[in-house]
Amino acid sequence: MIADMINFGSLANRGVRALKPYQPGKPVSELEREYGVRNALKLASNENPLGPSPKALAHMRAELAELHRYPDGNGFELKAALAARHDVSPSCITLGNGSNDVLELVARTFLAPGLNAVFSRHAFAVYPIVTQAVGADMHIAPANPADHAMPYGHDLAALLAQVDVNTRVAFIANPNNPTGTWLRAAELEEFVRDLPDSVVVVIDEAYFEYVVAVDYPDTSAWLERYPNVIVTRTFSKIFGLAGLRIGYGVSHAQMADLLNRVRQPFNVNSIAQAAALGALLDDEHVRRSLQVNSDGLIQLERAFADLGLDWIPSVGNFICVRVGDAATVYETLLRQGVIVRPVANYELPEYLRITVGTGDENSRVIAALSDAAHN
Ligand SMILES: *Cc1c(COP(=O)(O)O)cnc(C)c1O
Repeated sequence: MIADMINFGSLANRGVRALKPYQPGKPVSELEREYGVRNALKLASNENPLGPSPKALAHMRAELAELHRYPDGNGFELKAALAARHDVSPSCITLGNGSNDVLELVARTFLAPGLNAVFSRHAFAVYPIVTQAVGADMHIAPANPADHAMPYGHDLAALLAQVDVNTRVAFIANPNNPTGTWLRAAELEEFVRDLPDSVVVVIDEAYFEYVVAVDYPDTSAWLERYPNVIVTRTFSKIFGLAGLRIGYGVSHAQMADLLNRVRQPFNVNSIAQAAALGALLDDEHVRRSLQVNSDGLIQLERAFADLGLDWIPSVGNFICVRVGDAATVYETLLRQGVIVRPVANYELPEYLRITVGTGDENSRVIAALSDAAHN
């Protein structure tokens, strides 16, 4: 058999054949290699510009001598800390290799061919990937129109209209990435109340700690009332640990039990568990990160206004700005050593998503945008 004669595409399951791979932000090292620039700046993956907490780093170092051991497969200490934080039993926590891992566990546990997941247009790219990978159908709801107060954000009535007897999962991102739009407590609770009990509602709160808007809900407090809810959180964003891959879900203990049956026994490594415990002890680092972000959002919005550019109002650590021919502007920025994120794959071809950096980093992306606008 000559290897070239195998049509692997025809061997893959139907859902996988239709999958489009996730497009990550360009790594700094790749830009520097390809474009011959130095000191490249990456504001493309919603990472914390302050990096990890020193307490997380100290916990990681202390764990290094134990690397010959398997990690604690049940994550006892970390689950205890998270359970205390959310005022639930440790049996309600599911640890993931990033919160994306938890999203995938939900899909593998509750979806299958013939069943479907409901989510919004312009929603986070991992929802279609985990849904299609298990051969389930996607019911994609239209999003808010461009002139809405939350442009391109989730339209909860439209999402509800997509639910049918075969719907097992609804994915809600609050706030959503890449739009940065968010849902208020009252409207989201009404949506959850109106859903059939047979639908697992994933409320993805990856940016929870960044949101300062009043009326923004902490849905982990809703589990008693709505046992079909699972809330996902991550250490990748404000906690600055994206490279380690650690996140978690908070849900009814019976749901967590199912997810934990599907989960690989050692999906979260020992260094990540130690780092997360350290990160949870450092409120000051979180506070500083939040301040840098709130200041940065204002700085970027002012600059967009000065440049005559529209943007989508965001409560996350990123913001989408409308630049017209985004592919060209993206290239222009790359040549200046600035990496941002084109979002044409999210059907927003006129926008670039910019992660909020430090004041100096924001100034650099603003200068590059200003150059691009005038050339
Ligand atoms: C970044 C992000 C995540 C987090 O992914 P991790 O796997 O935890 O790094 C989850 N959901 C959304 C909407 C995100 O933007």
